[in-house]
Amino acid sequence: MTIKYDIWLILLSTLASSLAMFATFSFVDRLYTSTAKGKKFLLPIYALTVGSGLWGIHFINWLAFQNSAKIQLSIPLLACSWLAAAVVGFITCYITSQKTIAVSLLAASGFMAGLASYAMFYLCAGALHGANNVNVIPMALFSALLTSICVSFLALITLSWMKQYDGKHALPTKALLSLVTAIAIIGLHVTFNASIETDANSILINSQQIGSKKMLAAMVSLVVACLFLLVILVALFYEKFGKNIFKFNFVATQQEPNTFESKDALTQLPNRRAFRQLLETASARCTRSGNTIALAYIDLDHFKPINDIYGHHVGDAVLKTVAQRLQTAVRGCDSVARLGGDEFSALIEDIESDSDIIPIMERIVSSINLPFYVNNQQLEISCSVGVALYPRDGDIEKLIVCADSAMYKAKQNGKNQFKFYDADIESSANQMLEMQRDLRAAIDNNQFVLMYQPKLDCNTQLFVGAEALIRWNHPTKGLLLPKDFIAEAEHFGMIEEMSNWVAEQACKTIMQAKSRDIDLHLSINTSKQLFRSKNFVTEIITYLSKYNVPAKNLTVEIKETSGVRDETLFNQHIAQFKAAGIKIALDDFGLHPFTLSYLQELNVDEIKIDKIFMAKVNANSESWKLVDVLLNLAQHLNINVVAEGVENEAQHTMLKHLGCNHMQGYLFSEAITEGNLLHYCKQHQLNMPTVAINQEAIAA
Ligand code: C2E
Ligand code: CA
Ligand code: CA
Repeated sequence: MTIKYDIWLILLSTLASSLAMFATFSFVDRLYTSTAKGKKFLLPIYALTVGSGLWGIHFINWLAFQNSAKIQLSIPLLACSWLAAAVVGFITCYITSQKTIAVSLLAASGFMAGLASYAMFYLCAGALHGANNVNVIPMALFSALLTSICVSFLALITLSWMKQYDGKHALPTKALLSLVTAIAIIGLHVTFNASIETDANSILINSQQIGSKKMLAAMVSLVVACLFLLVILVALFYEKFGKNIFKFNFVATQQEPNTFESKDALTQLPNRRAFRQLLETASARCTRSGNTIALAYIDLDHFKPINDIYGHHVGDAVLKTVAQRLQTAVRGCDSVARLGGDEFSALIEDIESDSDIIPIMERIVSSINLPFYVNNQQLEISCSVGVALYPRDGDIEKLIVCADSAMYKAKQNGKNQFKFYDADIESSANQMLEMQRDLRAAIDNNQFVLMYQPKLDCNTQLFVGAEALIRWNHPTKGLLLPKDFIAEAEHFGMIEEMSNWVAEQACKTIMQAKSRDIDLHLSINTSKQLFRSKNFVTEIITYLSKYNVPAKNLTVEIKETSGVRDETLFNQHIAQFKAAGIKIALDDFGLHPFTLSYLQELNVDEIKIDKIFMAKVNANSESWKLVDVLLNLAQHLNINVVAEGVENEAQHTMLKHLGCNHMQGYLFSEAITEGNLLHYCKQHQLNMPTVAINQEAIAA
């Protein structure tokens, strides 16, 4: 038997099926990432749309294989056929959007969808030819049902798999799978057709009443296309406006962060500042509507080793993928931001209960847990998430701290999990809040003190300069060291103000020295966070000119890891320092794995061997070989080497022997006050070699 068909209609049906399947991928994605409430609203709409699409496509296929030009129509049977299609749509949307599905359930759903598809076909044939004019051929029916169940099962598997797929080629893969599905549907229709016999003489509707077959098919396609478009629009509006979908309150809801520099350059997500704006706007909205919002603080676990071992380009690629995955894990109406480094946050709006948030947090944690593929390498990380709710857990200020403390708790509990803020976490959150307030007061009330640790020439033991080290004169806790507050200042975004104070103070000290005819060289420490600020270098240059300090008198110490996260901005800053004539020292050398090319690329003036490495050298004489190699290399590259943490005479002798340029450490002096430093410099001008500089000796 030869099958007659209309090629144009087959092509039209393939196109329509492909587009419908492609849209179904997006429906499933959206359902998967929506809240329980959202699902309740969207699921029936999607199910009916997918069902109607399927029905329309089937109808076009039917026309494509139809030789007769006239059609007899039974509206009730046609409606039943459409209902069967809606059942297929419902099974498809409901089952495939579940977080996890047992294979048995998937098989049962495939079975049901397969039967329902055939029912749709059979009822449609009855509706078009008259119920009495359709006869089933038993053997062919069996093979048609089997094919229908298999195709349905495969389509369900494909849809449920693809909803978690966020690989590089997600779109082309989905497009290809849509085309394959469309072809499978045509094949399916051929087996369906073979399973029935219709009476060729059945009474048919006058074709002129409906127009030609092609015309009819085009109309059905158009209706289906409009339906899909309409539903996509409804979904987009729903995601944007939630409950207020029909109240188009654009002013209140579309406030995008409009500040300068609101995006993170690497991931294109809103940055910390923009996120704060989003949070403020959302909380204002909440106060008006009485809704709840959740703030999720997301910190990657085990990210640092990736940067250290594979290099920053790999780390950057992972961060970009993390950003994409987080955006997929939250719902369309939520926002994700990068707070800096490996810290992200998500703002979950329009929440009715904890159960609205839990699936989102589960998706966040499990999406980061999936392997990352960069440069053919499989990398694995996880994330710890802290969740706090507004207004339940406090105002915006407190909310950030609460989410942050909950995140710490999640880390302590073994990472790779999320934790809600609760009473247990409250006390540590209060401590953090207190720290934040104290630090604010310290900046406002000038509680910081800058001390200076002298640097000496290894050979002559003459004073060559000093490193500025910050201390905090805390009103109740006494003099605090940087380890007690630098990380916190970074964390609370106050490091920039603190560093500006340090830079200004150092410039003032150089100016003071100059007024006493002392050519003082100082170095200041920097924090990696500063490299994200555009004004970092210009601020320092402003102080240099304000206090009339030559740029060559200032060295900026950079930690090796400073540049790792945002290479472009980092390199721009380095170039700006260089152009201004400010020297660059690479701090903490020997603490982290390091590539030699980095040293050359950075074009640093100085390397500081870290005190921890010096302590290691002390215990293990083999490590001196490394220092020797470094010194040779530095000599070739014309880089000055400073050994930090020199605590005993043996270290000093060895450094001198190997040709190290400068040194600093408790053997000579700890950090001293500005007054003592200037006093010492004056002595140094008389060319007195330093054996011991300590406060007492100077004071004496
Ligand atoms: P760093 O840059 O490695 O600074 C050297 C640290 O080693 C100083 O600790 C110094 O007091 C200590 N040190 C000096 N000689 C010896 C020694 O012989 N033995 C030992 N065991 N330690 C010695 P400090 O002042 O507590 O500073 C710690 C870190 O805090 C600094 O490490 C630096 O990373 C950071 N820091 C200090 N001041 C600032 C600042 O103004 N801004 C920023 N961003 N960071 C700062
Ligand atoms: Ca330093
Ligand atoms: Ca150091």
